[in-house]
Amino acid sequence: MPAKRTATKPKATPLPKPPDRRRFRTRLLTWYRRHGRDLPWRTTDDPYHILVSEIMLQQTQVDRVLPKYAEWLEKYPSFGALAAAPEHEVTRTWYPLGYNIRPKRLQSIAREAVAHYGGELPSDEATLLSFKGIGAYTAGAIRSFAFGERAAILDTNVARVLFRVFVGKGDPKSHAMKRHLWTLSATLVPVRHVFDFNQALMDFGAMICVARNPKCPVCPMAKNCRAFPFDPAAK
Ligand code: SF4
Repeated sequence: MPAKRTATKPKATPLPKPPDRRRFRTRLLTWYRRHGRDLPWRTTDDPYHILVSEIMLQQTQVDRVLPKYAEWLEKYPSFGALAAAPEHEVTRTWYPLGYNIRPKRLQSIAREAVAHYGGELPSDEATLLSFKGIGAYTAGAIRSFAFGERAAILDTNVARVLFRVFVGKGDPKSHAMKRHLWTLSATLVPVRHVFDFNQALMDFGAMICVARNPKCPVCPMAKNCRAFPFDPAAK
């Protein structure tokens, strides 16, 4: 009689142990302090400024965001100023960044902040997520950059870095993997230096562990990276 087959669940990828987490944080922060980009939204903890930069950076390269970020803050220096501006003028000011749903979202967040929160953004996750236009990533960015909270972020760049360093194999785009990468990001975020750590993760994904042709030969993670040596044919 043939042996009975039992379905086996795929093994969950384990989370890194405390010494591995510490090593990753130290290497990432050391790299960032030497090579991180000097960007204007890194010298502020104003929730409005952080939100504007995060919404502009969705779908748009840093170089194109820089002049518009300065122009926008000069024209609309607060949630109140943006909330009161005519909609057609807000859309025009946004030009040429594109993907024009973004200025509308930004203005709707500003109007809600003015109507319900005294022209400020709340810091707790559940309330932030209740705003139309603020998803898990933006909520994490606001909490960690504006309020210094130990909040995780996960955008395309961060997901790629964490997947390559700590997972290496499998489908990086599956729902299960995305959930795992969120947990990983939350596990790695330190108690101190949250601002720098999350900014460093983004810079590292934009400058070293880039989508095509990552810079493995100069990468400080290479020794402990599960995707090293990187195979461009792999996912
Ligand atoms: S060794 Fe290569 S694949 Fe691994 S983190 Fe560094 S750049 Fe990315």
